[in-house]
Formats: sequence, C-alpha cells, structure tokens
Amino acid sequence: MKIEQFPEAIRPYLIPTHAGRMEYQCLRCDHVFEIDNILYTCPECGSVLMLYDRNFDHLNGISGELWKKIFDYRRMMNHPAMKGIFRYYELIAPVIPLEHIVYLGEGHTPIVQANNRLKEMLGIDFYFKNDGMNPSASFKDRGMACALSFINHFAIQNKIKDMLAICASTGDTSASAALYAAYLEDLLKSAVLLPHGKVTEQQLAQPLGSGAKVLEIPGVFDDCMKVVESIADNYHVALLNSKNSWRILGQESFSYEIAQDFDYEVGNKVVVLPVGNAGNITAVMSGFLKLMKLGIINHLPKIIGVQSEHADPVYRYYLEEDPAKRKWVPVTVKPSVAQAAMIGNPVSIPRVIKVVREYNRMTDQKRVFIVQVMEQEIMDSMIIANRNGHIACTQGGESMAGLKRAVQKGIVGKEEIGVLDSTAHMLKFLSFQEMYFQDRFDPEFHINPREDLRNAPALVKPAALKKFPEPGKPLQGEDMERFVQETASEIANLLGLQKKR
Ligand SMILES: *Cc1c(COP(=O)(O)O)cnc(C)c1O
Ligand SMILES: [Zn+2]
Repeated sequence: MKIEQFPEAIRPYLIPTHAGRMEYQCLRCDHVFEIDNILYTCPECGSVLMLYDRNFDHLNGISGELWKKIFDYRRMMNHPAMKGIFRYYELIAPVIPLEHIVYLGEGHTPIVQANNRLKEMLGIDFYFKNDGMNPSASFKDRGMACALSFINHFAIQNKIKDMLAICASTGDTSASAALYAAYLEDLLKSAVLLPHGKVTEQQLAQPLGSGAKVLEIPGVFDDCMKVVESIADNYHVALLNSKNSWRILGQESFSYEIAQDFDYEVGNKVVVLPVGNAGNITAVMSGFLKLMKLGIINHLPKIIGVQSEHADPVYRYYLEEDPAKRKWVPVTVKPSVAQAAMIGNPVSIPRVIKVVREYNRMTDQKRVFIVQVMEQEIMDSMIIANRNGHIACTQGGESMAGLKRAVQKGIVGKEEIGVLDSTAHMLKFLSFQEMYFQDRFDPEFHINPREDLRNAPALVKPAALKKFPEPGKPLQGEDMERFVQETASEIANLLGLQKKR
C-alpha cells in the first residue's frame, strides 16, 4: 500500500524519524564507547558489550497504543528496508539509514498451533514459531541482518572495501554470515571456522555454496571460538559471532513478532527456547523488556531456557537459588543432537545474568527459568513434532521437551500457552533424523530410537517379475502391463487396501 493510502493520522509515523544515539556499554566495567568503530569486547577490560540507545526514552513520546498501530500498519507497507526485522526500526538500531539496510527475507516467521494430539501429550496449548523459515533456515538471520546492515553502513560511510568478516560457528551462524556477505559483493568477503565433523552436511554446504572460505578446525565449537577471538584481537577482521552486539539487537525482533502476532497479549505466554551461546535468550528477554518500557505490552511473558544434559552450564548456574552464592563454571560438552546449542562456555553469559535480573525485577517475580532435558527427549520430541505437521529441528525438539519438563515441574500451568522457538529448519538436521530411523547413534549420545517412531522406505519389487524398467530403458507392451499390475497389487497388499467392486 502506498503511503498516501494510509489513514492520515498514521502517515507521519510510518517512515521512522527517531534518531537513536547508540553506544556500546561494557557489562563488567560499565565503560561506554562510541559506535564509530566496530567493537566486540571492551577495550578496557575485555568483557562483552551491549548496545543501548540513549534516546530510547524519547520513544515514550508516543503512547503504547499508537506504537501498536504503527507496527500493525507497517505490515501493509511495501518499503523495502522495513519488510523484515526493521519493521521495528526504532527498537532495533535506529542509527542505520534506511537505504543501508540489507534485507534478504528475514523475520516474520510463521507461528503454528499444535494439534490436539500434541496438546494432550504435553498437557498444555502451544505453538511453534518456525524460525527455520528464515533465508538461511535459522534464526541467526535476524541478528545477521542487523549486523550486516550496520557493517554495510559503516563501510559506505568510511569508504572501506574488501572487509573480511569472520566467525566461528556450530553451523548456522556461518551459513547466515556467508549468505549476507555474499549479497554485499565487493564490500565483504567471509571466512568461517567450523569444528571439523561437528556440523551437519547441509550446514557445511551452505557457506560453501555462498562462496565463503570454509576452514575446519579439530575440536568443538568452544575451541573454534578461541581461535577466532585470537584472530579478531590481532588482525583487521569484522567478527560476526554473538560477541557482536549488533546481532543481539536484530534477534530481539523474535519477541516483537510474537507480541504482534498475539495482538500484544503476551502475559499468559511462555516463550521456550534452546540455549547455546545464550545470545538468543538475551535478545528475546531484552526485546520484551523494551516493549514493556514503551507500554506496548502490559505483562512480560514467562521465559524458559532449555539445555541438554550434555551441555548445561547455564542450567547448572541457576540451580543455586541464592544469587549471592551462584558461581559461573563452564562445562566440557558431550555430543548432543542439539548440536547448535552444544556450548560449554557461552559467550553471552554476562548478558544473560544482567538481563535475567532486570526481567525478574520488572515484575517482582521469577519469570525466567532454565530447565534441563535428556538427549533422548530432545530427539523423540523432534520426531513427534514433525509427525504432527511441524518442521522442527533438533533444537526445536529441545524446546518442546523443555516445555514438557516445565509443565511436569509445575513451572508452567495448564492455563498458560507455550510459544516454542524452532530455531532452524528440520532439513538442516536431517542427519539426526536418519540416525534415529536407522538406529545408528554413537553410544555416547545415549539415544535408543522408539520403535513406533522409526520410519524407513520399503522397496517394492515383486518376486514374480523378471523384467523391471530402468532409466532410459522403459518396458514395452505386455512386460509393462505385468509390471504395473504386479507392483500395484503388492502395494495394495502392503497397505491393506480394499478392492473396488
Ligand atoms: C545458534 C543456535 C542456537 C543457540 O542459540 P544461542 O543464541 O547460541 O543460545 C539454537 N538453535 C539453533 C538452530 C542455532 O543455530
Ligand atoms: Zn569493560
């Protein structure tokens, strides 16, 4: 719809006019730094940074009611820069000129309700939000769209070309980074570091297809991360890991969409997501907090972070109820089917600690919980979800297993409604489905496929037949007729079909 076709009262608000004044702030020493440079860690103390808009309070000049209308009307607008996560421009990075925003189709992923069978199984109504329907098939595109838009802006402003973007990845960050970098032509080349043999075939194919330099390193993700950090400390590169706080801002869009899709009524919602490097849970909480501060929502949803028994440092940290006694201890990970969350020393833990505190304080009650699930439950849940019409990846299975655990533990009541983050598309994690169906898991996963959930193709090749069609050599006449009849009748037998009279 064209601007002049919108109601007159809303027109002045459709194209953003808010000018943010963004700064990095260190989470340990509170030092602030200007955004005239791309920073990843605090130059003073080395801790992680967050980005804040010092003009955020100006947004309160518009009422919560009007903000809702603005976002809802923007749904009908065809402005290219605001078709994706930047529909919520003022809440994300209101320092990037609209013409420097990179849009590859990210965001606004579907929210699909569970059918009755699934609801009964979990004892609660819930939805999947399919973030696998982003361009590189994971939620990482939300953050990458923001980070790359800023880098694009930064490069144009400073007349820089040939930057090298680099990241370590459990698979999806690199796929996303490579995709966005490829779009930016000469501005940005990308190199990705992956733990050798620890990403799926599809995740390896993605950066290769986007033309990135792909480097495989022995070890697990945590080892890759150390190498990449050393490179970023000593050489001129743009780091695209979640140390890059621009990514966190983009990932907040997940919360804005949930709010908008439920008509801004989220007080009875329980948002469930897998926790790896903990950037996503940071962003989701921080997104809902911003909506509260602007009166766009009146209640904060409950947040459930889920970790596998094989990579659960955040769960362990919060097991201690007394904040004064909590101690951060990284863990050594074991193989996990939730491979994208298989991280023992999450980069964003200082962010999580800070934002969880703020989240709970805002409502004067505990609204954030971390639960732990078994590998077996993750895998069973993914398979069961997909047998009920979803497209969950293993991490989506982890979300579902997490909601079930939260209901069992009484953290979530039956009157609440779950919104599960399926963080990637199931097609990216096919190898785990395959291992399940073929019962080929290495023993260290501790997964025994449930017989009733396994599936395999059946070859139909009737023993009575001598001749079969082959590519380029079709059968003729009577041979063909016999082939069709025998094969059809064997299939009818297999399927127990009733003959027509
Ligand atoms: C990155 C990723 C996660 C973990 O998110 P964090 O922000 O690292 O906690 C979960 N699932 C998928 C599919 C991912 O790609
Ligand atoms: Zn610092």
